[in-house]
Amino acid sequence: MNAKSLAAIAAAAALAAAVAHAQQPAPMMGFSAQGAERERAAERIMSTVPNADRMKEIHRAITLEPHVVGSKTNYDYAVYLADKYKALGFDVKMNKYDVYIPWPGNNRVSLTFPEKVDLSLTEPSIPEDPDSAHTKGALPAFAAYVGSGDVEGELVYVNYGRIEDYRLLDRMGVSLKGKIAIARYGGQPSQMRGMKTREAYKRGAIGSIVYSDPADDGYVRGDVYPKGRYRPSTGFERGSFLDVPIYPGDPLTPGTPSIPGVERIAPEAAESIQKIPTIVISYGEAQKLLVHLQAGEAAPRGWQGGLPLTYHIGPGPAKVSMHIENDYQQRPVWNVIASLRGSVEPERIVMAAGHRDAWVMGAADPTSGAASLLETARAISTAVKQGFRPRRTIQLGSWDGEEFFLLGSTEHGEQFGDDLKKNMVVYMNRESYGAGNWGVDGNSSLEKWVIETTKDASHPSGKSLYDAWVAQQPNEPIRLDALGSGSDYTVFIDHLGVPSLGPGFSGGASGVRHSLYDTFAAYQKYGDPGYKYGVSQADTIAKMLMRLASADVLPFEYTATADYILRELDDLQGLDTAGQMRGTLAGLAAAAAGMRESAVDANAAIETLLASPAAGRDKVLPELNGLVMQVERDFTDQRGLPRRPWYKYLLTAPGYYTGYAAKTLPGVREAMEEQQWDLAKEQAAHLSEAISRAKGTIEKAAALARQGAGAAATASVR
Ligand SMILES: [Zn+2]
Repeated sequence: MNAKSLAAIAAAAALAAAVAHAQQPAPMMGFSAQGAERERAAERIMSTVPNADRMKEIHRAITLEPHVVGSKTNYDYAVYLADKYKALGFDVKMNKYDVYIPWPGNNRVSLTFPEKVDLSLTEPSIPEDPDSAHTKGALPAFAAYVGSGDVEGELVYVNYGRIEDYRLLDRMGVSLKGKIAIARYGGQPSQMRGMKTREAYKRGAIGSIVYSDPADDGYVRGDVYPKGRYRPSTGFERGSFLDVPIYPGDPLTPGTPSIPGVERIAPEAAESIQKIPTIVISYGEAQKLLVHLQAGEAAPRGWQGGLPLTYHIGPGPAKVSMHIENDYQQRPVWNVIASLRGSVEPERIVMAAGHRDAWVMGAADPTSGAASLLETARAISTAVKQGFRPRRTIQLGSWDGEEFFLLGSTEHGEQFGDDLKKNMVVYMNRESYGAGNWGVDGNSSLEKWVIETTKDASHPSGKSLYDAWVAQQPNEPIRLDALGSGSDYTVFIDHLGVPSLGPGFSGGASGVRHSLYDTFAAYQKYGDPGYKYGVSQADTIAKMLMRLASADVLPFEYTATADYILRELDDLQGLDTAGQMRGTLAGLAAAAAGMRESAVDANAAIETLLASPAAGRDKVLPELNGLVMQVERDFTDQRGLPRRPWYKYLLTAPGYYTGYAAKTLPGVREAMEEQQWDLAKEQAAHLSEAISRAKGTIEKAAALARQGAGAAATASVR
């Protein structure tokens, strides 16, 4: 036979194989062939359910009035959602916490030199947007969890108030002692506002002001609301200044739930509350201050904002007085938890949730997410009513107090922590969304599964969600970025070690965030007109929940975790400026490579198990899934991270100085960034222990999978 005919035979064989393959349903991670077929049937039913008109109706019903945490309206909206979930056949609980929550008192902020100007701390309604007339119950400009009192001092401009900005001021010899720091929102890496205030206080500042600059969030970016999606000069971003990287949730009950009988620490002892009076203002008002902040040289080019003036650092001559009152009370926080009981492993939970409380009406943030999630619930409920009850329990939730910083979710995680550590499979965070790019942050162990699932989900363009995802970032690999903080996944991933995902569309009107103008009317124009993205998202999340709840073997894939660790270790080499960590990092890399080999072996064993007869397989599944879940828990360390023991997960955390942006391998990385080599080595030892724990669990899982497959083989011979 000549080479040509060999090639022809090979081609024919390949074609035959391809035809055979096309006739077989595509495999699905974690499912046996039979299980995958059943799952696809359930998904076909679910996909017909999410509906734009219904989403719009629900969205309207819970954006009629301001509904900040602790308000009567926010409680009413909780009851509204609870009733909707009940009607869909979910078992619904409303869990209450009593949390130390401030509302603003009679705050006043004035320029006192070189002229007297009282600043406006309210947002006027806009005639084009009738919803913006609902100002009753709208909090004025407000920074939550800051100091109270009267202060007066010269202004100093601190740019974004990032640690690098403050360090530049330190090097320039600009002192903040007795001064009031004015910082603009934003900056990269993404930074939580509380850190701007904390670092100013550490340098002696007596007050802190944060404003939205038009260069980052206003007319420099495009037309402002209502003509466009960017922030108008009268709009401001309310926000919590809680020191989240220390711990989120009720500042008086770190690590414990705010329920009756639990001891509260004294407010003065709460490390997460900022110490100095602080306020947020609009750029229209900030301009009145900055125009008089003209002492010294012009600020560096990267510090210049978008107002029509040259920005100076100061201090002064502008002088500002602040009178900040905080009306602290134990206010009620209401979580709504809706459960659909699983059939085989009912104690195991797959959850998707987002918050309900809003700074004002919150049409985009968060209510868009709540409306879409209810369509997810309806899809699942429809499939279950037709006989597709999943193996595990599905929970959907509506958190309260997220805006004041993750109050409801944190207290939930702290109350049910022991159970969640044992039994929660995955937490998916689903709050605000807008028509725009698709993205998923989360644990690498779920990366392969997320990619597979998005290939079976659809995008409003008609493409598969995966193809749309690739098209939106042609030069970047599809990857799950590490979670930092900024929403309700924090307690799950960082405190409990529950793998978490943040899947969703992002887009819409960034300029109305946390303002009176985040209204239903604004959302119809700039959020998701026609709710097409909301429908696609509702369907995708339903698929994700159903697959995680129904898979025979949970679809975690730990070679990706090893690869993540190896990538981040590579990156850490750049911080090893003194060559102190070479041996330590090499040791960690060897450990991660060893874990990877074990994961490859476990994957093969699980494949074999899934292809083996049900008789032996089913016996080992509950225990096997327990081991598969345990691997992520192995990366928690009860000693916690340096400076912040509440944070127990060693693979990612919000940065101590960023609050939002993630630090990967945070214990080692942050110690290296500060050139604390002994601490870095100690943290590396913790990580090394975690990697070997994980490797051990993966090996146990592989052995059990082989046992199940072997038992199945014996059973079928008999
Ligand atoms: Zn939100």
